[in-house]
Amino acid sequence: MAVLVTGGAGYIGSHTVAELIDANEDVIIVDNLSQGHRQALLGGKLYVGDIRDSEFMDTVFQENEIESVIHFAAYSLVGESMQNPAKYYDNNVYGTQCLLEKMKAYGTKRIVFSSTAATYGEPQTVPIQETDRTEPTNTYGETKLAMEKMMKWFDAAHGIKYVSLRYFNAAGAHRGGKIGEDHSPETHLIPLILQVPLGKREQVAIYGDDYPTADGTCIRDYLHVSDLADAHLLALQRLRDGGESAIYNLGSGKGFSVKEMIEVARKVTGHPIPAVIEKRRAGDPAVLIASSEKAKSELNWTPKRERLEEIVESAWNWHRDHPEGYTE
Ligand code: UDP
Repeated sequence: MAVLVTGGAGYIGSHTVAELIDANEDVIIVDNLSQGHRQALLGGKLYVGDIRDSEFMDTVFQENEIESVIHFAAYSLVGESMQNPAKYYDNNVYGTQCLLEKMKAYGTKRIVFSSTAATYGEPQTVPIQETDRTEPTNTYGETKLAMEKMMKWFDAAHGIKYVSLRYFNAAGAHRGGKIGEDHSPETHLIPLILQVPLGKREQVAIYGDDYPTADGTCIRDYLHVSDLADAHLLALQRLRDGGESAIYNLGSGKGFSVKEMIEVARKVTGHPIPAVIEKRRAGDPAVLIASSEKAKSELNWTPKRERLEEIVESAWNWHRDHPEGYTE
């Protein structure tokens, strides 16, 4: 009996694969390697292919007894999603449809889903609760919400139970030092900040300083990627125990502005890290902070790496050891 991890060679996927391996799970990974990296896998069996490729997915399901799926395979760039919505609907929404159809065909009844705070859009109150309004301000969030909704109806019709995990901002790298964050192109704040002390860029851009926040820059809730990964195993356990479908926020409950993040990185790296103000990035809400009380009480989830300095330091250690990221 195996757990299929789609998109398992990506950033959050690979950290979840690492925790599954530590927990002695039998892990099958499907990744088309459009964003993922072979080197990001600390174990498991990799099938290189696309979740939209029906014959390929038949092979995966026929060669393995898949009892549960953890679904990461998706595009995840807010900016790109605003430029090219069709790309996001095709890979994310249609891709999920293809996956759920295979689960139905092969009788796999459990799925843990990689969702996002971007499903909420501009919050009415913070911290954000799972019952709050979902009105995404960007295409990426809209597709993730559509994927969640699709799971709801596949559950109603076919009894495929799901846990959707709405992540806030994943950050940091694995304790073993072998895996970390490597996107191409890189668009995420922490790796971009760290490119300055690495000598790969002169300065970091701050996308807007006229937001309604104390220092005018956007506030986000940063959570260590391994704490996020842990929650997937707990979600899987909930479903194996016969739990109903559910949605959980995953965040630290604390918000930091872009300027504060740069300041923390200056402390951790000992580098001045010059910053320049640029215009706002389309689709960015001003403040996103999670209430994760539901995950804590129902999944028994406890984040273990809570200090922001520790999170940035783990990212810094990985980037310093892998200045060019993964080589394959
Ligand atoms: N950001 C920034 N400069 C950058 C990259 C990101 O000011 O070079 C801001 C971005 O506008 C957002 C925050 O940093 O407010 C986190 O962005 P990221 O892309 O890391 O994650 P997201 O919140 O989009 O998931």
